[in-house]
Amino acid sequence: MSRVIAIASQKGGVGKTTTATNVGAYFARAGRRVLLVDLDPQGNATSGLAVSPPPISPLRELWDGVRTWGDLARPTAIERFELIPSPPSPTIPLRTDDLRSARVPELRSSLDQATPGWDFTLIDCPPSLGPLTSLALQWADAVLVPVQCEYYAMEGLAQMLRLIEQADRSRSCPLETAGILLTLFSADLELSIEVVDEVRKYFPELVLETIIPRDVALAEATSHGEPVCQYAPRSRGAWAYLNLAKEMLEHECAETR
Ligand code: ADP
Ligand code: MG
Repeated sequence: MSRVIAIASQKGGVGKTTTATNVGAYFARAGRRVLLVDLDPQGNATSGLAVSPPPISPLRELWDGVRTWGDLARPTAIERFELIPSPPSPTIPLRTDDLRSARVPELRSSLDQATPGWDFTLIDCPPSLGPLTSLALQWADAVLVPVQCEYYAMEGLAQMLRLIEQADRSRSCPLETAGILLTLFSADLELSIEVVDEVRKYFPELVLETIIPRDVALAEATSHGEPVCQYAPRSRGAWAYLNLAKEMLEHECAETR
């Protein structure tokens, strides 16, 4: 069995891809086998990990049964961390109708049965509430929602939580919340502090303890095609993602106990 965590928010620029690539890298450093699925047709996780984009959509090939998860996984620079890359085309490879097909649960089972398989599968979702995010919410065991510490954070979050509730109702087993992650925090901005207080006040059970600060090292690492653990392991951003990976692994251990 792979533990599948979707990283989702309908907003762009909140740190989904940065979180997916860096948590994936730290999980792998902690000895877990990790698969990251780049489900965003913009392919930011693919370029952020310097993996060459495939000519055709791996998702379509999986769907059509032409290839398996194992065939499509590509190595990254980090041992035990693999990626299913996104092709350069921005076309969405699925229609809303596809989501009602029996392929959705079949492909989840084949992911769980893959050998040697992955302890964790992270899904980097596109910044929309379209078919790809819906698919991720059907495949996932849990969803992690990054929230940028800025204006309108609460509105976006409420909308995302409603989508999660809807997805939960259409599933045979509950969709867990891996947490709300506060990102792009600036300690010198009053607004950042207010957002943290407000989100913690309304969702005390859901907010993760780790807060991701705004740190240019994280953006630079992406543009160099490296996870921050490799590019700038002593930066504030690296420490934050290391702590987040630890916090998430602790939760996972508590769940399975
Ligand atoms: P999303 O996937 O939600 O659209 P990204 O992870 O791609 O968001 O982040 C958007 C931009 O902000 C990227 O250029 C990324 O490098 C940068 N970024 C993300 N998180 C941070 C951070 N904590 N500090 C500084 N820059 C960040
Ligand atoms: Mg992204």
